Amino acid sequence: MTEPTHDEAHAGALGTRLNWLRAAVLGANDGIVSTAGLVVGVAGATENRAALLTAGLAGLLAGSMSMAAGEYVSVSTQRDSEMAALAVEKRELREQPEAELEELTEMLRVRGLSREVAREAAEQLTARDALRAHARVELGIDPDDLTNPWHAAWASFLAFTVGALLPLLAIVLPPAAWRLPVTVVSVLAALVLTGWSSARLGAADPRRAVLRNVLGGALAMLVTYVTGRLLGAAGV
Ligand SMILES: [Zn+2]
Repeated sequence: MTEPTHDEAHAGALGTRLNWLRAAVLGANDGIVSTAGLVVGVAGATENRAALLTAGLAGLLAGSMSMAAGEYVSVSTQRDSEMAALAVEKRELREQPEAELEELTEMLRVRGLSREVAREAAEQLTARDALRAHARVELGIDPDDLTNPWHAAWASFLAFTVGALLPLLAIVLPPAAWRLPVTVVSVLAALVLTGWSSARLGAADPRRAVLRNVLGGALAMLVTYVTGRLLGAAGV
């Protein structure tokens, strides 16, 4: 994929946005597959709509909250370590400014600037905002734009919920005879869409991603359905 060169300056921000979008698609995919497996499994054992609704809704809530909690913990931990790194950087800038200027110069030089230009650039960056310059060049983070754990948690909660609603509605809305076909077809169609989107957002081959995604979802539904049938037949 070739992109116009004038777009490359924004590659960082664009990359971040694409990562968020891709995480949302994968979160929705998770919601679709896990809830579809759950409701299809229960549908293998019973035709009771209340049981299907209860299982589907419990699966939706448990899954979305577990995703949100996991995301909150992981982003908080990352944020803690970024803040700790920034605090160290701040202290170093205060206690040994000359060594830090030399360090910044050297990091700019290895990125392709001549020694003189790197020194000049380092001096200007240090004069403007030394901490931000070190955070960006040395740590690769933007001190004004650390990821918010609550945002990350909400985003995964929502993404999973949107995905989970599809199999939940597909299993409880149609008449009993149509439940499984409607759910299986709509879930597989949605998995084509999420597999294709996540591959495109990650610049990977969409056909393979779609195939893997659909096969994975189909396998999940098959395994839980057979399990549900066996348990239902055994009268458990
Ligand atoms: Zn530094």
